[in-house]
Order: sequence, then C-alpha cells, then structure tokens
Amino acid sequence: MNAAADIELTVTEIQRFCMHDGPGVRTTVFLKGCPLRCAWCHNPETQSADRQLLFYGKKCIGCGACSVCPNGAHVFGENHLIDREKCTVCGRCAAVCPASALQISGYRMSVSRIADEAEKDRAFYGKDGGVTVSGGEPFFQPRGLIALLRECRKRGLGTAVDTCGYFDPSYLPDAVPLTDLFLFDIKDTDPDRHKKYTGADPGLITKNLYAADRLGARIRLRCILVNGVNTDEAHYARVAEIAASLHNCDGVDVLPYHAYAGTKATFLGLPDNGRKEWIPDDDTVERARLVMNGKA
Ligand code: SF4
Ligand code: SF4
Repeated sequence: MNAAADIELTVTEIQRFCMHDGPGVRTTVFLKGCPLRCAWCHNPETQSADRQLLFYGKKCIGCGACSVCPNGAHVFGENHLIDREKCTVCGRCAAVCPASALQISGYRMSVSRIADEAEKDRAFYGKDGGVTVSGGEPFFQPRGLIALLRECRKRGLGTAVDTCGYFDPSYLPDAVPLTDLFLFDIKDTDPDRHKKYTGADPGLITKNLYAADRLGARIRLRCILVNGVNTDEAHYARVAEIAASLHNCDGVDVLPYHAYAGTKATFLGLPDNGRKEWIPDDDTVERARLVMNGKA
C-alpha cells in the first residue's frame, strides 16, 4: 500500500445512493471540521473537527445500559440527560446501546478504506456518478482530501467536492485536476450578511472560486435560500452574474433551508435553533432558481 492511501481522515458518515450531491448516483463522504458557523447549518455535527457523542433521545428505550459510562455522564431522571462536561467521548455507551440512540460522530478512516467503501457501489455509478466529498468543509483536512481524490482517480471513480470555499488556496492546484466537479457554495453575495450569518468574510471564498475557475475547474454553484435573509432580487441577480462570469459553470442549485437543521443540533446537546420563518415557500424557491440560472 502506498503512503498516501494510508493517510487517515475524520469522517462523520458515508452515505450511499445519493442523488443530490452531484450528477448520477453517488457515494457521499462527509468529513468533519468546518471554518464557517452558518446559522442555518444543516450538518451541525460536521462543524467541529473533534469526535462528538450524538444522542437521539426519541430512540432511547430507557434500558439504562449506558450506565457503563466510567464518568457517570448519563443522568436518569424525568428525562435522560447527558452531562457533556463529564463525557470524554470514549464511545463505550454507544457500543452497548441496543436502540442506536447513541452514536459517535467522527471516526478515523484511511483513504484506502474510504475508497474501498465507495468501490462497493461502483456498479451503480454509470458514466456520471461517483464519489462526492462533503462535510463540513473537505479542505479542512486538505492532505487527506487530495489523497482521497487521487485514490479515487486511480481507481477510475468519478470525483466531486462540495465546498464552502473558505480554505487555503495553495491546495487548489493539486485538487482541481483530480476533481470532476466542484459543488461550490455561495451563501450570500451581501458581504455584511455573509459575515453576520456565517461568521466569515466572503472575500476568500470569492478569491477561491475564481482561482478554481482559472485552473479549469468545472463548477456548479450551490445557494442556500433562507427566507427573509437572502431572498432578495439583488442577491439572485448577483449569483446569476457570477455564474455567467465563470468559464465552465454547470448551473446553479437552489437549496431551500429546512428547520430539521435545528433538530439535528439537539443531538449534540445544543438548543433547537431551527427557524420555521426561514423556510422559503415554493414560489420563492422557483423565482430564485430561475433568476440565478439566467432564465428570468
Ligand atoms: S462516550 Fe464515554 S464518556 Fe461519553 S457518555 Fe458515553 S461512555 Fe460516557
Ligand atoms: S443504552 Fe441507549 S436505549 Fe438504553 S438508556 Fe442508554 S441511550 Fe437509552
């Protein structure tokens, strides 16, 4: 085995038969760690680069098996609570839970093991499908990402990278030739709103988008649509301008916010921050889709 294939990545999940993470049927590898803190994040378990314990309270049958915790972190009263200050994320409770109510998010996998998992679905990929590396932010683990892309390429598997765009640009020259398609997020084109809702200035993201374009990347833009935040015509028009200015842009996907994001935060012991008023209606989504794709 070569050294690059031995490099390990921290993975939250590998999902098979994905239809919305690039063309065709895809295996999506979710990596842990992200530099942004979007208020609407749909995958909050991928934000931290560290291992975390997820607790799906609705699945819990109250058997008490998780009392194996050496730190007494499981507290049984009217509700089953976890004292996260005490939890060292050792995983013992998750290993014995009969109801899959406890799960560790973040396990180390070598590049070759991840590629082996993807190979199992090779028969379904057809000419368009393949592996999508998502997150979190895939470039948060840059060496591992590039090694994984190289391994997939070596095995003849299609590759896509779903990125928030906020990463060290020095990795792009290696990544672009190994990536069939970039799914590149544009969260907001208003710099102040971008900073307010993601915690980051969009300058580096824009710089990386055009750097990838100059290196010949095929790009599909992905735009989260958050009702009352970025559902304005100026934003739609600016996204259309950006798409038209790229040399090899496949189009723009509009991704409507959904409040399940908030529920997912509760699995980490965080408050449910889902906001129903942020869910755009169908007409708003359709309008954004048309304008951003230059069809209105
Ligand atoms: S992961 Fe380990 S430390 Fe954390 S609650 Fe479970 S058994 Fe206790
Ligand atoms: S082991 Fe699982 S099902 Fe049993 S009490 Fe703990 S979390 Fe609930």
